Amino acid sequence: GNNILEVDKLQTAFKTDKGEVISVEEVTFQLEPGETIGIVGESGCGKSVTSLSIMRLLGTHGFIKKGSIKLNGKDLAQVSEAEMRKVRGNEISMIFQEPMTSLNPVFTIGNQMVELIRLHMDYTAKEAKKYAVEMLQKVGIPRAEVIIDEYPHSLSGGMRQRVMIAMALSCKPKLLIADEPTTALDVTIQAQILELMKSLKKESNTSIMMITHDLGVIAEMADKVIVMYAGQVVEEADVFTLFDEPKHPYTKGLIESIPHLEYDSDQKLYSIPGSVPTLQQMPKGCRFHTRCPYATEKCVTDRPPHLAVDGNSNHKVRCWLYEEVGSKTSTHTSGSE
Ligand code: SF4
Ligand code: MG
Repeated sequence: GNNILEVDKLQTAFKTDKGEVISVEEVTFQLEPGETIGIVGESGCGKSVTSLSIMRLLGTHGFIKKGSIKLNGKDLAQVSEAEMRKVRGNEISMIFQEPMTSLNPVFTIGNQMVELIRLHMDYTAKEAKKYAVEMLQKVGIPRAEVIIDEYPHSLSGGMRQRVMIAMALSCKPKLLIADEPTTALDVTIQAQILELMKSLKKESNTSIMMITHDLGVIAEMADKVIVMYAGQVVEEADVFTLFDEPKHPYTKGLIESIPHLEYDSDQKLYSIPGSVPTLQQMPKGCRFHTRCPYATEKCVTDRPPHLAVDGNSNHKVRCWLYEEVGSKTSTHTSGSE
């Protein structure tokens, strides 16, 4: 169809001393031009590995074991490394919480930005520098016309992060992957950057994958959401449905742990007890059963499938609590008596 990105049953594994571990499995989603998908979960749930799989930045031990990642029909799981390098430069930009591809220490911010901008846009050096200053201003960098001639080491970590964001947005990528892009920044700057991403989406029809543990950011930015737990998608829905009618006990726990605006310091925040299981010790059955208040014996032994809720194919959940409804419906519709 009209999708820019189609991830289908992605499975990513890592080689370790103790053998192969599956880090992400059966991740499936689609993204239309100009659409934002939020990927949410605690750290260790497989959100970052999902995005690094799409970028094919899995290091020497990681690899895509199964599934496909189609960007405008081209399967990124299959293309050569040389072709992948072009995709990374031209079609997909990524912003990391801690930039892995950090700024080059031997060139000024301006040199790096101008080079990047001219690679993607038809600007003279002078026009590119003017545009770079504007982009730096838009991400809240004060005295941008001075800062642009500085070297990366003379900036604070937060400022460098903003420079990275300005660079990623300046090329107007078709797909922007943002992995906890604003977590380390203060609230005002965070709001400014989210606004900037929204206007980029409007102006350039950029699709965004917003990876975060912060449901406030999801509510602000996403059209649809997938919730990941222990390497699997446990729920997916449009953003309104997810907040209004969350089904999975994990999603409900995440939503209950959002601080309210009228938060006072005495109020105790709900937090989901326990922690995400490690890849080496993944529980059998439902992976959430060690933390779930509704777990039954079946949850301990049998792995729940990811199924549509009430026949709505846009809302899916991986939990035995909703299986009853599904099977009743199907018995009913296939009943011949
Ligand atoms: Fe909880 Fe069972 Fe649902 Fe898993 S399948 S989330 S353990 S109720
Ligand atoms: Mg992460």
